[in-house]
Amino acid sequence: MKKHFRLTVISENSVFKKGLMAEHGVSFFIEYNGKKILFDAGQGFAIAHNTEKLGINLKKLDAVAISHGHYDHVNGLGEVSDLLASTPIHAHPKIFQKRYSLHTDGTLHNIGIDPNLKNKFNFKYNESATEIVPGCFLTGNIPFQNHFEICNENFYIDKQCKQQDLMPDDQALYFKTAKGLIIVLGCSHTGVINAINYVKKLSNCTKVLAVIGGMHLKKASEFQQKNTLESLKELNIKYLYANHCTGENFINLLIDTFSSARCQRLSTGDQISLI
Ligand SMILES: [Zn+2]
Ligand SMILES: [Zn+2]
Repeated sequence: MKKHFRLTVISENSVFKKGLMAEHGVSFFIEYNGKKILFDAGQGFAIAHNTEKLGINLKKLDAVAISHGHYDHVNGLGEVSDLLASTPIHAHPKIFQKRYSLHTDGTLHNIGIDPNLKNKFNFKYNESATEIVPGCFLTGNIPFQNHFEICNENFYIDKQCKQQDLMPDDQALYFKTAKGLIIVLGCSHTGVINAINYVKKLSNCTKVLAVIGGMHLKKASEFQQKNTLESLKELNIKYLYANHCTGENFINLLIDTFSSARCQRLSTGDQISLI
């Protein structure tokens, strides 16, 4: 069989194509060596509409993988539950954790997922690295390891904001290909550099062909952004495709640093083919 990797953005925060809808969140459709994978489902306004427009048949998936338990990555499942009823949905068991975000104006926001989803789907839970289709793996929880990517968000698991949410369910999806690793990120709450280094360790592979997805740098400190950029340079990644929570300023900085031949912003409806 001919090897291939093709990723289509079902939805993310921006759209520049006719007839498609953007929403805050992420949903990717990935075709890899004949297998079809949905990675995240967005928050639910766009998935049914956009998959129909893009000609993506959600009934024919081999697997669904979930990056972490935030509404903007998971609640879309509920909008297409009839299509995904029998498809295995791979996720960390802690995606159902209650979750709140405390904003700087003092307001508290529920950012957890719809608890009713638990009984509607064929969930397959993983806590450590797991191969979900041949050559395609979920990492399991990504450990915090470097000194600049630390959990400093105002995320809590209780309404009193006493217990910080350390995002134990945050995972990346990766593909081991002959040309190097392809790493697909949801939100990178545990850090994009932590994720890349963890995938390199898990896979015993040092070459990174591409890193794709949300890098969660929109509100990050200058210190974190500077260290992330330096690390990305050192990691010698061939292609970078950023979107969602990466932040427009950081995306532009990436394009300036790596050139548009190596780095692009991926918006709703965009498609990339690698290998
Ligand atoms: Zn998130
Ligand atoms: Zn997100």
